[in-house]
Amino acid sequence: MGLVSKSENEIFEEVEELVRSASLSVRRFQRRKTRKINVGKVQVGGDAPISVQTMTKNPTEDTDALLKEVKEIEDVGADIVRISVPDEKSAISLSKIRDKVKIPIVADIHFGPKPAIKVLEDNLADCIRINPGNIKVIGIDYLERIVDLAKKKNIPIRVGVNVGSLEKPILKKYGRPTPQALCESALFNVKLIENMGYYNMKVSLKSSSAYDTICAYLIFSSISDYPLHIGVTEAGTRISGTARSAVAIGILLWLGVGDTIRVSLAAPAVEEVIVGKRILESLGLRDEEGKVVACPTCARTQIDVMKIAEEVEKEVIRLGLKSSVAVMGCVVNGPGESYIADFGVVGGGSSAIIYIGGEPRLKVGKSSEEISKKLLEIVKQSEGR
Ligand code: SF4
Repeated sequence: MGLVSKSENEIFEEVEELVRSASLSVRRFQRRKTRKINVGKVQVGGDAPISVQTMTKNPTEDTDALLKEVKEIEDVGADIVRISVPDEKSAISLSKIRDKVKIPIVADIHFGPKPAIKVLEDNLADCIRINPGNIKVIGIDYLERIVDLAKKKNIPIRVGVNVGSLEKPILKKYGRPTPQALCESALFNVKLIENMGYYNMKVSLKSSSAYDTICAYLIFSSISDYPLHIGVTEAGTRISGTARSAVAIGILLWLGVGDTIRVSLAAPAVEEVIVGKRILESLGLRDEEGKVVACPTCARTQIDVMKIAEEVEKEVIRLGLKSSVAVMGCVVNGPGESYIADFGVVGGGSSAIIYIGGEPRLKVGKSSEEISKKLLEIVKQSEGR
């Protein structure tokens, strides 16, 4: 017809070269250099892997509930756990679980200095978090006592600035808790502690706005090399909080900022850990383990993808399975995703096909119970469970 001016091969070579040269300009992840500190057995900062932490949600004084929650947090693979210590009773409860858990503990202290002193004197935690917004309430003498004890025990301090409890004079000066206000508060308090001769610190500057959080950490990281605990505070519910956290933490990490992360959700702590791990995996900062992919479903869907994927993922997380699993509604993208994953299921016609090692191996009925059961049985068997 005379329409064709280049051969398919010529177009392919042209495209290949364009993609090759464009790939060279894609920014590679470069982590900002920070000091390294030790939170118990977990290193934070420097070249240490980025750790995932969460915070317990039960009253600390309820020892049984606290221990159960920390064990669940450990089981799901968190690196560090933070526990609020609002009073002496909580410190006593903490002392009862201290030897029963393997994960490093950060004691979260606000207002009253007595729990901080007890935590440090009795070696109840691997790190202590203080909130600069409360230091005026604590009083500088008590801060000095806390710093002196931390120094003697070589326990790091996290200077944890939060948008909800910024010092009043700084808030007044800026009119609202701007990124600059957060930085000023953090830096001032870091310098107060440095002035007491202590440098074993990490810092957080959290806002409930993802945008302000990003700006605050970028500003602070350009003027300080203390390791940074990053996250959006009071991020919200499962869906909204996950979105805000993933955007802020993801962007900061991509820009090389952040040494330990916490996703703050109005949801159980184990969910915060899972979201945190997924953020690191998504950026290639942690190996993907137990990955469940699922298609979004559409009019072509042949099986109950949502139910099966939920069920399979729940078990994969609960049992700590390592395999990747694809749950796919039909043959459009199903075979392709199942080829990439260790295991897969694809809806088609009157049955569903289970893939093993990228190959279609087994036909099962279309009921979600049957599919989930069989798929999990095969995955568990392959991992010797
Ligand atoms: S895999 Fe099939 S069912 Fe799932 S979204 Fe794609 S076309 Fe729809």
